[in-house]
Parts: sequence; structure tokens; C-alpha cells
Amino acid sequence: MTTDNLHTLAADQNEIGGHTVTLADVTSVEPDEASRQICNDRVNLTDWGFKVTSFAYPFAASTPKSEEQVAGCGYNSARGLGEITTPIDCAGCAAAETVRPADLFRTRATSEVGSKWTLADLQATVAQAEKAGGWLQLTFYDVDNSGSPAPSAPRCSNSSPLGWRPGPNKGPWPCARYTT
Ligand SMILES: [Zn+2]
Repeated sequence: MTTDNLHTLAADQNEIGGHTVTLADVTSVEPDEASRQICNDRVNLTDWGFKVTSFAYPFAASTPKSEEQVAGCGYNSARGLGEITTPIDCAGCAAAETVRPADLFRTRATSEVGSKWTLADLQATVAQAEKAGGWLQLTFYDVDNSGSPAPSAPRCSNSSPLGWRPGPNKGPWPCARYTT
């Protein structure tokens, strides 16, 4: 991905968030290095012209210390992973994050949507969040416009039910329920 790609995404109303300079596990490197990883990434993105407010922990690894470091680098929030119930995992977990989230520096999200998921799983996850009320963060990995990550992964087309349709990249991803 190039910085031009990032600007195209940002112009399409997507926020570009931080994820450390080199995908460092901020819980296992020295504290000073963790801060450099988190802060320098945000500075780079800001220098490239993005308004950077949100962070995602590499490997979803965080501790109270790393939450402090993310806040100290000027982020407004950071996302977790795998804390919301889905048909795939996290039975008994909440159906949606609260608004406002209890922990702004570890906001709850589903596990990564990947090849184990079907479109029905994705729809069920959204439907239960709609019923519960709140905020649902879905995380997609290895997204491109060729149908990645795997042929069995959830896809949708313009004829999919319930208003589900593919994203503006013209591939089957991101399959989402757009309200506008
Ligand atoms: Zn990552």
C-alpha cells in the first residue's frame, strides 16, 4: 500500500489510524521503544496529512501500561479484538460496545472476520448488535479487491439481501450494510 492509496482511502471518508511503526508488539518491547513505536507512527501519519485519532494494537496485545502510552501519544482511542460475541467465538461476550466505551483505550471489537466466517455469520453479528444497541467494530484482515482472504470468506454482491452490498472498491469486500 502506498501513501497515495492511503489518501484515496481517506478521501473516501475512511479514517487512517495508527498501528505502530513496524508492527511491534507494544507489550513485549522495552517501554521506551513501545512509546517510540506508537508516537512516531502517529507523527508520520500526521506529517503525511492525516488526522490521526485512533490506534489499533498490533496482535491485539495491550496492557494498562500500553494503554497509557497510546493516550500519551495523543490518541483518543485504541481498539481491542475478540471481545464481542459472534457465531464464531466469544460466547457470552457483549453483543456490542457501549457508547461511550467503558475503556477508550481498549474498545471492544469482534475477532477478525476471515475465512472461517460466512456472510450469514457477519449478518448475525450485525443483527445482534442492532438489537442490543451500541457500537459494533468489525475487523477485516487481508482485504483487497480480489476476494481475499479466501474463497470461503463472506462475500456479497449488489443482490445480497438486507441491504448488504460490496464496498466502493468493486470487489466483494468490504461487504457491509451501508445506510447511505
Ligand atoms: Zn495488524
